[in-house]
Amino acid sequence: MATLQINNLHAKVAEEGGETILRGVDLEVKSGEIHALMGPNGSGKSTTAKVIAGHPAYEVTDGEITLVLDDEDVADIDEDVPPEKREWDLLDLEPNERAALGIFLGFQYPAEIEGVTMTNFLRQALNAKAEEREELFEDEDEAEAEEEEDSGYDTSPMEGNVDDGEIGVAEFQQLLKEKMELLDMDEKFAQRYLNAGFSGGEKKQNEVLQAAILEPAIAVLDEIDSGLDIDRLQDVSEGINALRDEQGTGVLQITHYQRILDYVEPDHVHVMIDGEIAQSGGADLAKKLEDEGYDWVREQVYETA
Ligand code: ADP
Ligand code: MG
Ligand code: MG
Repeated sequence: MATLQINNLHAKVAEEGGETILRGVDLEVKSGEIHALMGPNGSGKSTTAKVIAGHPAYEVTDGEITLVLDDEDVADIDEDVPPEKREWDLLDLEPNERAALGIFLGFQYPAEIEGVTMTNFLRQALNAKAEEREELFEDEDEAEAEEEEDSGYDTSPMEGNVDDGEIGVAEFQQLLKEKMELLDMDEKFAQRYLNAGFSGGEKKQNEVLQAAILEPAIAVLDEIDSGLDIDRLQDVSEGINALRDEQGTGVLQITHYQRILDYVEPDHVHVMIDGEIAQSGGADLAKKLEDEGYDWVREQVYETA
């Protein structure tokens, strides 16, 4: 079971004199748990998500983000994974490295890519993750040996072009079929082209499908409920529940509205106000927010300040 620990996180817009947005965020999310991160517009929810993923628009000025992995999380790695490779300081890592360790943030649409099907896109994403993951867990001696080998004249170009360990087309088709069944998605979906104009709701479902394929330890879903009609909201919610129930994914569900939490029942609810977590509680806290809004939380913050 992986644990994502965010301690005293401070972040500002990465430009000279950039605004400070996060002012000491503390949060812990484990695999298999569903956390709702709520709060008024502009409180810093999306910034939190992007800073976790390593977005270059923000600069972290204080605090830590740590990912702790246990045996189960490194079961796909051959050799015994030493202690120093079980606790990662995410702030030292590139976005793709964080993703390879098991952090998922639904990616934006690479709309400029012409003629790529969902299937190929997802297969490439999975293979890229596996390759990055191998590099991260490779021990130093091995990495050096491989580098020497790569620069050696005796390596045939044919061999060099074959990516061992890649998931092939047929094997991937099978995986995709299973995941689409799990999410109750139409198989035709996968044959569509990335630039073929998915509707808002279809994009959200795609985000869940990406998470199902990549099997992250922790998925950060930012406003996946925005603009969905009730049927699509239910589909997406069932998908999120399946991620948790069937593959043990931990979910940090960012949402402005309580509505989706009727379908994705959170274990923990947090309220962000002005770049800090001002309140945490159980599912009942979300209900109270629905009835009473955010003002009472804000008042509490500024009374005690
Ligand atoms: P939320 O997701 O809770 O609505 P955001 O994290 O998107 O809030 O934004 C928090 C605040 O930081 C807002 O006032 C927003 O305008 C500001 N902000 C976020 N990102 C940037 C940026 N890249 N440049 C300038 N201001 C930003
Ligand atoms: Mg704090
Ligand atoms: Mg936002």
